[in-house]
Amino acid sequence: MAATRFEYVRNFEQPTTLLRNTWIVVRLDGHGFHRFSKEHQFAKPNDVRALHLMNASAAAVMREFDDIALAYGQSDEFSFVFRPSTMVYSRREAKIITNLCSLFTATFVMQWPQFFGSQPLSYAPSFDARAVCYPTIANLRDYMSWRQADCHINNLYNTAFWALVLDSKDPKTEQQAEAILRVTDSAAKNEILFTQFGINYNNIDPMFRKGSTLFWRKQDVEEVSAKTGQPVVRKRNVLATEYVDVIGESFWKENPHLLS
Ligand code: ATP
Ligand code: ATP
Ligand code: MG
Ligand code: MG
Ligand code: MG
Ligand code: MG
Repeated sequence: MAATRFEYVRNFEQPTTLLRNTWIVVRLDGHGFHRFSKEHQFAKPNDVRALHLMNASAAAVMREFDDIALAYGQSDEFSFVFRPSTMVYSRREAKIITNLCSLFTATFVMQWPQFFGSQPLSYAPSFDARAVCYPTIANLRDYMSWRQADCHINNLYNTAFWALVLDSKDPKTEQQAEAILRVTDSAAKNEILFTQFGINYNNIDPMFRKGSTLFWRKQDVEEVSAKTGQPVVRKRNVLATEYVDVIGESFWKENPHLLS
């Protein structure tokens, strides 16, 4: 297009680029999901449909953006980790976070019926997004540990809170449950769950306790050969979803390609 006398306004733009050679973490978080989850009758403390929908939306993002090494989700949030070598959108912050966030949100809306069936989406959800650069693997692992520790603390609290509120024999009000839990540490919450409700916290769904980690992995996949029509086993890049500990060493030792 020919230059016009208006074009100078572009010079007012203030592009932010994300520091080269650093891990870029983009975290999305649902806007006002306390209300959204109420309005859509999410099961408390953990709605499995919602968590699987979040994971499916994250998978769509990972299929679109090649340089994402892994993603971690819990509650209404998802973190995406880009490798230090990435030059996605020339590392322009606004481009990265807005495209990622809108693709995630659009997928969340499109796939809603696959997870919530005939229950309608009663208003449009939105997510916020931010990008943070981490210069070292240690920083990145501490970031992952931070989110997973947050998942654990919130989930232990929420599990105890909803056990007290939804107790069929002696239901507590939300205020009462909050007052009871205010003075408890982790051990006391575990104790309440076990003695009053027969719940062994360690036995509840690892998706709730650990959050979801999505990553690419080379895996043997059984296929039918196009040439021969015979079954064959091929190594393929498969998008794995696991509900595992990412604070300790073993996940990273089993998947060294994620950090190299
Ligand atoms: P903000 O806009 O500041 O993020 P928010 O209401 O989304 O506010 P968060 O701190 O992000 O607050 O917390 C998300 C809330 O959404 C949780 O407290 C929980 O009530 C609810 N929630 C999210 N995912 C689920 C789920 N899978 N099952 C049940 N509740 C959920
Ligand atoms: P980028 O991702 O860089 O923005 P783009 O393909 O979206 O790439 P744009 O410069 O934003 O490129 O141009 C948008 C293009 O979308 C137009 O060139 C046009 O082909 C198409 N388009 C957008 N809106 C309409 C419309 N209402 N009717 C027909 N075509 C449209
Ligand atoms: Mg928030
Ligand atoms: Mg939120
Ligand atoms: Mg949140
Ligand atoms: Mg465009």
